[in-house]
Amino acid sequence: MKTIQEGKAQIFVPELREIVSSDMPVFYNQKMRVNRDLAVLGLDYLCRKLRRELKVADPLAASGIRAIRFIKETNCVGKVYANDINEKATKIMEENFRLNEISPEKYEIHREDANFFLRKSWGFGFDYVDLDPFGTPVPFIESAALSMKRGGILSLTATDTAPLSGTYPKTCIRRYGAKPLRNEFKHEVGIRILIKKVIELAAQYDIAMIPIFAYSHLHYFKLFFVKDRGARLTNSLIDRFGYVLYCFNCMNREAVFDILKTKEHCPVCGTRFNVGGPMWLGELWDEEFTDFLYREAHEREEIAMETKRILKSIWEEARLQTVGFYTASKLAEKIGIPQQPPIRKVVEFYEGVRTHFEGDGFRTTLPHEEVLRRSEEL
Ligand code: SAM
Repeated sequence: MKTIQEGKAQIFVPELREIVSSDMPVFYNQKMRVNRDLAVLGLDYLCRKLRRELKVADPLAASGIRAIRFIKETNCVGKVYANDINEKATKIMEENFRLNEISPEKYEIHREDANFFLRKSWGFGFDYVDLDPFGTPVPFIESAALSMKRGGILSLTATDTAPLSGTYPKTCIRRYGAKPLRNEFKHEVGIRILIKKVIELAAQYDIAMIPIFAYSHLHYFKLFFVKDRGARLTNSLIDRFGYVLYCFNCMNREAVFDILKTKEHCPVCGTRFNVGGPMWLGELWDEEFTDFLYREAHEREEIAMETKRILKSIWEEARLQTVGFYTASKLAEKIGIPQQPPIRKVVEFYEGVRTHFEGDGFRTTLPHEEVLRRSEEL
């Protein structure tokens, strides 16, 4: 074991020469730093909004790093309930809380299955739940939604990006009830499918999980939702489920709500459309929440430069919330130009914004035929 510093927390973690995997005695992945930075900032947003002491749940806590950062880097945590099924994790967590001199009134450590831990907490309701599982969060979503107070925030991670992004379509259909699309915006489609699943699972209980932020990085997706209640509100979310028609020949794409009203063939080149979905077709970023994360991150020294850079990029991207985007490389390949111009020029040329999903990606509201026409002139 060794001690590391992340944000304002110091923690004992396994020696980093060990390969990061779910077989580690206690899981710690330094590459999830950005994810944890975002989780801290998301909690701070709720602190400013609710202006009272909050009950925070970290049901899959491992070393306890998130829970400790929540306490040390915000000033509204009444108590953090940190849980892990692994005995080694709960032991190291205990040591880590002591190492950071956290007052015992500020935390409880539990060693239970995360679903059991979340469901028995209905009595008081958590304000903030952070779900950070190995792979898919699906098994824990209902329990998390049920365990939360109205107005609370769910911070959610998924590392099964391969099925969601179309590498294993059958797994995606089985696990998420939707068909992925393996195209240039496959990660965005994956995120939209995951959002649909979260909304759907909570909707069974007339719980409305409203998506407020989405982010794709390395091997994972990170999402935030606000919990609300009521059949009408929940229906209004489901009304925004739909499909993406995609042409693998000319890259044409159309977002449609009613599959029966769609065309089978691409009107631009006549090739048969591929269909992805059902998925969430609504907005990915709430303006107020995104603005807060971006501005707050830049105020804080303990937030990593990489997190600040990503938040700036998402803040700019959120201005043009299209379904799907283009990449300069794919366009260049399709129309046969040998070298792509710099991305800044490309974005200007198509009157668009960059996307954090792909380095050479951009969003534009221009019709597809106009994108193709301009590409000939690029
Ligand atoms: N949140 C941690 C962080 O930021 O470093 C990492 C969490 S790690 C990806 C997932 C953790 O979930 C592991 O420590 C594992 O022991 C725990 N776990 C897996 N299945 C569980 C279950 N059913 N109930 C509770 N904990 C579980």
